[in-house]
Amino acid sequence: MLKVKPADGYPPEEGRYVRGNDYSPVVVCTILDTFDWAIPSELNELVMSGADTGAALSGMLQTENIGLEKIICNIVANPNIRYIVLCGRESTGHLPGESLLALKRNGVDDTKRIIGSTALTPYLSNIPIELIDRFNQQIVTIINLLCQPGERDTRVPGLNPKVVQEAVRSCYQENPVVFMDYTLYDMGAYPEPAIYHKIVSKLVQPQSPPEATQPGKSKMGMGLALHKLLPKTDCKKCGKKTCLAFAIDLAKGKSRLEECPMLHQPEFAGDRMALVKLLE
Ligand code: SF4
Repeated sequence: MLKVKPADGYPPEEGRYVRGNDYSPVVVCTILDTFDWAIPSELNELVMSGADTGAALSGMLQTENIGLEKIICNIVANPNIRYIVLCGRESTGHLPGESLLALKRNGVDDTKRIIGSTALTPYLSNIPIELIDRFNQQIVTIINLLCQPGERDTRVPGLNPKVVQEAVRSCYQENPVVFMDYTLYDMGAYPEPAIYHKIVSKLVQPQSPPEATQPGKSKMGMGLALHKLLPKTDCKKCGKKTCLAFAIDLAKGKSRLEECPMLHQPEFAGDRMALVKLLE
């Protein structure tokens, strides 16, 4: 069975993940549905169970644009990776799980928008289209264990570390095994060289704002458009009770973008640029 050495410098992108066995055919992708710095313990357990069971990488996905771009870069740098186990619960703010599944199913259009994603900014603007195509060819199956938003029951498959472990183990069996609706086995590395690509332009090339977020005529319309691009955690760190209150004050010129500390996190770089454009 073909196994290859990952690209020098693998994995090229940093993130909230654990590196495991470079020759494993599977990564675990757990949706992070909170914007607090502390990761919920049940999600942390999923990540660690993936790494402990032999995944190549096991980590968090938070956003439908830069988060996905980083995953693509790290996967194409290691042709041994052929499967993604998708778990955790969907994040209503960014819909990263839905976007990952739509990317695999439909690819992207000419503007590098993920076809079929209903997220606000599902644009993979910072990576070449060839990289996206290669990702879709290299990954043969996404094992979808994703739960509904807000799910808390850790017995359901997508929040159950034992089920995630079983999914990971199934992917590296020499002979096909049936796991839920999937037939899985280690088919060996993708037969093309590893690609090393690092995102360098994420602060230069803003995510395109969706049509629905073009400035409206009223302050309220503008506030609603701005709200769509805010983190929507209602964390109150800006001094407002909600992101919507902050958005309306932004529209009225009573607040400034800099007052939302969440927007300084790298995951929101694209949204921040889109907000700047709307406020111009
Ligand atoms: S706008 Fe305010 S409430 Fe919303 S994420 Fe930023 S700091 Fe938190």
